Amino acid sequence: MNFSEDHDVIVIGAGAGGMTAACVAAAEGLATLLIEKADRVGGTTSVSGGMVWVPANAKMRAAGLTDSLEKARLYLSHTVPGDFNRELRETFLTRASEAIEYLEARTALALKPVTFYPDYYPDLPGATLGGRVLEPVPFDGRELGSHFGMLRPPLPEFMLFGGMIEENTNNAYWAPVSRFRRPDGTPAVYPHTITDRGKPGFIAVDRRGQRFTNEAVSYHEFVQAMFRARAIPAFLICDRADLWKYGLGAVKPFTVSLGAHTASGYLARGTSIRTLAEALGIDAAALEATVLRHNEDARAGVDRAFGKGGNAYGKYVGDPDHTPNPCMGPIEHGPFHAVALYPADLGTAAGLRTNVHAQVLDDADAPIAGLYACGNDMSSIMNGGYPGPGITLGPALTFGYIAGRHLARPERQTVKPGRSTE
Ligand SMILES: Cc1cc2nc3c(=O)[nH]c(=O)nc-3n(C[C@H](O)[C@H](O)[C@H](O)COP(=O)(O)OP(=O)(O)OC[C@H]3O[C@@H](n4cnc5c(N)ncnc54)[C@H](O)[C@@H]3O)c2cc1C
Repeated sequence: MNFSEDHDVIVIGAGAGGMTAACVAAAEGLATLLIEKADRVGGTTSVSGGMVWVPANAKMRAAGLTDSLEKARLYLSHTVPGDFNRELRETFLTRASEAIEYLEARTALALKPVTFYPDYYPDLPGATLGGRVLEPVPFDGRELGSHFGMLRPPLPEFMLFGGMIEENTNNAYWAPVSRFRRPDGTPAVYPHTITDRGKPGFIAVDRRGQRFTNEAVSYHEFVQAMFRARAIPAFLICDRADLWKYGLGAVKPFTVSLGAHTASGYLARGTSIRTLAEALGIDAAALEATVLRHNEDARAGVDRAFGKGGNAYGKYVGDPDHTPNPCMGPIEHGPFHAVALYPADLGTAAGLRTNVHAQVLDDADAPIAGLYACGNDMSSIMNGGYPGPGITLGPALTFGYIAGRHLARPERQTVKPGRSTE
């Protein structure tokens, strides 16, 4: 087969970005070839949470939630570092809803708003408490027939960067993970996104036995704090009662026997805070003092050190039934437990520079004719900031859509290889 003569468009990589570009190009009538190197399609997108951030989307309005592009613009101006890619952020804001509408009209994709899921910096101007995040409506896999087997199955695991990247931490999107082995012995990681850190009775400390951040911030913000404090690894600590209630990493709530987790070394245990610190190899006296101070604050409901539970996002990841602060509870009845946390990447933020049509730019900022990028291959429009849930998939769908539409413009089909004049 001669790929370039038989196809108008060749898309490399079958994740959210590539699939969107391929679907749109095909829907626009272009002969499209999608090439995937793995034995299944879906990429990282398959193992993601599937959240899609689209400010001021029409579904918000239908759900009675208010938002506007001005408000979203304001929010991004406070949460995205630097001015780089400003034009692309504007394109995202103005065309994301159009992309979703197009995909819903021409593919099986269906999204619905998550009405309470605060932006990750809910106190900053322009933030919303929900609705900007869209989640997929469940799809019956049987409709795919025999093609169902081509899908990469969802996995609760992240890619691990080894945890030692301290330069250019804005080049990736981060989450803290703990490392364990599956029953078959293969290595795995557990992403500590929203299940435990923000809950009452959990603190994270460094090797000096000291807290270094509000544990109820977003996963990305938490890892940035780990880098700043050089808390690698950090240790997430709780007592048996809260471990039972909320789980701790790969240890699920209501786990009766912890033997396998402690025997493997995943879960540290101490009958007192001092023996836990010794088991972890961290400063015992400092950890005792940290826990004492934390417990006083927990009873009062105010985290004097870091403000845990002090904003809407913290309350979202806390326990709404716990008072007076949904994120603060004393750590007081042994045995006590901990897991070690390491930084892991959800995806890259650095990538190819593109213009508003998703065309890749050369060194002179001119579009390279015929070459497009979207998803993580494209330099993120968030410049390494993480304003809210779904801020990689929202732009991936939007710029995949834009690439597909731009490819389908009648004049593109006669463009010869070489530098474009657009
Ligand atoms: C656990 C987890 C949860 C996440 N949750 C969310 C979330 O809820 N919302 C959100 O916005 N983001 C989330 N993310 C991030 C998000 O999943 C990624 O940013 C996004 O999926 C990237 O999409 P993509 O299309 O660029 O890449 P991918 O989905 O990774 O697809 C790339 C594809 O290209 C293929 N490929 C690579 N090289 C080649 C080659 N040379 N030839 C052919 N094929 C190739 C790969 O095999 C892969 O299939 C999460 C990430 C993780 C790990």
